[in-house]
Amino acid sequence: MIGGAIALELARANLRVAVFDRQQPGQEASWASAGILSPAPENPGMVAMVPLGKASLALYPEFVAQVEEISGMSTGFRPKGTLEALFSQDTKAELSTIIALHHGLGLKAEPLRAEDARELEPALSEEVEAAVLRPEEGSVDNRALTAAILEAAQRSGAEIFSGNGARALWREGNRCGGLVLQNGKVEAKWTIIAAGCFSATIEGIAPYAPVRPAKGQVAALRADDLKMERVLWSEKIYLVPRNDGRIVAGATLEYAGFDKRTTAGGIAKILSAAIDLAPGLANARIEETWAGLRPDSPDHLPILGPTDIDGLLMATGHFRSGILLTPITARLIREWITEQRVSVDWDRFSPLRFQSAAEGSAHRAPA
Ligand SMILES: Cc1cc2nc3c(=O)[nH]c(=O)nc-3n(C[C@H](O)[C@H](O)[C@H](O)COP(=O)(O)OP(=O)(O)OC[C@H]3O[C@@H](n4cnc5c(N)ncnc54)[C@H](O)[C@@H]3O)c2cc1C
Repeated sequence: MIGGAIALELARANLRVAVFDRQQPGQEASWASAGILSPAPENPGMVAMVPLGKASLALYPEFVAQVEEISGMSTGFRPKGTLEALFSQDTKAELSTIIALHHGLGLKAEPLRAEDARELEPALSEEVEAAVLRPEEGSVDNRALTAAILEAAQRSGAEIFSGNGARALWREGNRCGGLVLQNGKVEAKWTIIAAGCFSATIEGIAPYAPVRPAKGQVAALRADDLKMERVLWSEKIYLVPRNDGRIVAGATLEYAGFDKRTTAGGIAKILSAAIDLAPGLANARIEETWAGLRPDSPDHLPILGPTDIDGLLMATGHFRSGILLTPITARLIREWITEQRVSVDWDRFSPLRFQSAAEGSAHRAPA
């Protein structure tokens, strides 16, 4: 999704663009994702990403409309809000902390009593004590959106070469001349690495994008008699309703290398937490289970922007928020390439931050 969206933006800016993927694009994390659009930080470490997430969420309606118009395909965009259910005994204190945190970050969040939450979402468990409604959030059908972006990019003039991935940077002194591919070479003025959790396997890229795969297992359920409008969260699980009636339940977070197999334990955990949150799901049919690999970075923040090699940019490391961050990533890369400036500060996400960390520890080592 990230590579396709960048290709679309650049092609629309009248640049000649080619996407090289080692397989058919759209089969990895962007396919496996749940598609939640939420800039709310999951932990204090993610607060640095909130401005980027907010900017991207604000672009979403226009981005989706443009992609749908150019591709002629729908994307299952559901800007219907998300609802976080609280189960604890001390919900009053928990609720006011959560609301204050959100407001402090400029994020809309409303406290709800349990009855009001269940009126909005009757599928919620009777055990829920209170809830937080984030009305500006939502979801998108990431599989549909990825396919539509790739179609829109091609219709806008980008060329897509499947089955011809990057092996290595093609370096000419301090310039990136392009890429060494599985078959041949490609010369380019600008080279953008957007290979998700596989980015670091391309020779020459690891110092800028030391990403690793973070596996997530997911189950898709169908319950004909269960009504669910919004994304529902609890501490343990999220449930994402799709336009076709499926409910996507996820996800585990595991560091298991590039292994994409589902496990009995992983799926059991998801199903049990899903039923705790919405007990009616006990009767749901399991339509599909899968796992995908999030591109995680050492500080869990995205890796965006220019490197110290002329012509080489990174657009990866989006970890758990790549679907949310797609429109802003594509826009910032396009701005940098066409105008050499960006409209949202991205210094915090520089690909050079890992090198200075490595140099720092090398300097410290002798002492
Ligand atoms: C289970 C799960 C749930 C998630 N839920 C959410 C969510 O709710 N909301 C959200 O915002 N994000 C979510 N994410 C994260 C999000 O899916 C990712 O951050 C995002 O899809 C990353 O997109 P990408 O294009 O960078 O990577 P990918 O979609 O993984 O694409 C990488 C591409 O690079 C190609 N490639 C690999 N190696 C090479 C090579 N050597 N040369 C050329 N091409 C190569 C691959 O074939 C692939 O097409 C979730 C992820 C998972 C796995």
